[in-house]
Amino acid sequence: MKIICIGRNYADHAKEMNAPTPEFPLFFLKPDSAILPKRTPFYYPNFTTDLHYECEVIVRINKLGKNISEKFAHTYYDEIGLGIDFTARDLQEECKTKGLPWERAKAFDGSAVLCEHFISKSELDLEAITFHLTKNGKVVQQGNTKDFIFSIDTIIAYVSQFVTLKIGDILFTGTPAGVGPVTIGDTLQGFIGEKEMYTLQIK
Ligand code: ZN
Repeated sequence: MKIICIGRNYADHAKEMNAPTPEFPLFFLKPDSAILPKRTPFYYPNFTTDLHYECEVIVRINKLGKNISEKFAHTYYDEIGLGIDFTARDLQEECKTKGLPWERAKAFDGSAVLCEHFISKSELDLEAITFHLTKNGKVVQQGNTKDFIFSIDTIIAYVSQFVTLKIGDILFTGTPAGVGPVTIGDTLQGFIGEKEMYTLQIK
């Protein structure tokens, strides 16, 4: 399986990164080795000194598809979850400045945190999913999918022109404003509505 991540899908986050709002979905990939094994802490990697959390709504693909039309995109997923797209912000800045690929900053081991249980999409209003992330009990990010620049269906239609989607692939839909650093000893908790989706220790 693979992980497809969308960059800058909320105008407020694009703004905080001093980046323009994209005209089409920006995507990048993480390998399956990026998934943090369940119920394990995240160990702060030694190649960065500016590790950032990015709390994101995630979607599990449940059907093989290529060149999916937007109209039928909703038939390619049933489950919604919450994840963290960990980013080595210092390495990402270096990659951006030098025009290099982002993998060192985004695709490293443990950089994709997935919730343990997904929620059936029938239980959610996909156009108004509220979610938030706390760090040591304090809310640091809050989002609502009504603020998406590109909807899940638009993303699926766009990405599947280039990359075949397979059963089990995970789509990270982008992060809202409020990204920030973590340090060893922090606890991160992600919520959809008031439902806790994950708790993660940074060691
Ligand atoms: Zn992200």
